[in-house]
Amino acid sequence: MKELVIDKLSKTYANGVHALKGVSLTIKPGMFGLLGPNGAGKSTLMRTIATLQEADEGTINFNGIDVLKDKHEVRKILGFLPQEFDFYPKVTALNLLDHFAVLKGISNRGERKDTVETLLKKTNLWEHRRKKLGEYSGGMKQRFGIAQSLLGSPELLIVDEPTAGLDPKERNHFHNLLSELGENMIVILSTHIVDDVRNLCQEMAIIHKGQVVLVERPHDSVEKLQGKIWRVEIDKDDLAAFQDRYQVISHRLYGGHLLLHAYSEEHPGDGFVETEPTLEDVYFHTIPTSEIV
Ligand code: ADP
Repeated sequence: MKELVIDKLSKTYANGVHALKGVSLTIKPGMFGLLGPNGAGKSTLMRTIATLQEADEGTINFNGIDVLKDKHEVRKILGFLPQEFDFYPKVTALNLLDHFAVLKGISNRGERKDTVETLLKKTNLWEHRRKKLGEYSGGMKQRFGIAQSLLGSPELLIVDEPTAGLDPKERNHFHNLLSELGENMIVILSTHIVDDVRNLCQEMAIIHKGQVVLVERPHDSVEKLQGKIWRVEIDKDDLAAFQDRYQVISHRLYGGHLLLHAYSEEHPGDGFVETEPTLEDVYFHTIPTSEIV
């Protein structure tokens, strides 16, 4: 089975920011979620795997390919969907995809025509193929982004923070497409949206301040919190007192009050009731809210 093995990867930017600190991960086929707050180092990691930037230390190996050295080999089997696919507004989807196919090395005209048609159909853009990218909605642009990332039948697909600006229907559509792709290859989805990982990924890693702080199946990590998450509704003014006394993992406004989630091995008393743990509880238990900027 093909695996992506990342070993002790480190990166410090010229400004001194230590963006990756010895990251090690083994990623198998399927959808892998890389979850972490803004600034955690996700993009740095994604861009390094995608051969778009260098690491200082460590190795990445994909099925015998030394990713950091054999960049050319990696690019043959890699698809990359950047955060925003918002360039070339004046070109039609059909022409742009054809152009990218040329760049990807598909030089045979007939083969290229077939590939472009297949991908535009797969991403439900065929009927919009003669529209310019500038006339596409956010969801259509994302789907076009997927279409271009699939040129050359990649074995490894990297998707960096994809769902910004999509309405629920487009997002759903996009997710279905990703999850279908995850059946046949490694798809790494980098995101700060916990729900996306819960809905889509079989495996996940939480990354924080350049380090991997948890690697687990989302389902298993939620199971482990069973019986340990408690909720209580409190007055906003009482937050500090509760934070002093309990291991509060998250709080949010709920009908003008604060809904608190706390972690405790035993019943904390004080009006708390047990609640079903969610992946969000896992996330905030792993990374305290106070550390998320
Ligand atoms: P994420 O994708 O999780 O938001 P990034 O990898 O973008 O995280 O950033 C990790 C850290 O590295 C942040 O502190 C960010 O400000 C810093 N950083 C990212 N890119 C650069 C860069 N080109 N030069 C300097 N610092 C950077």
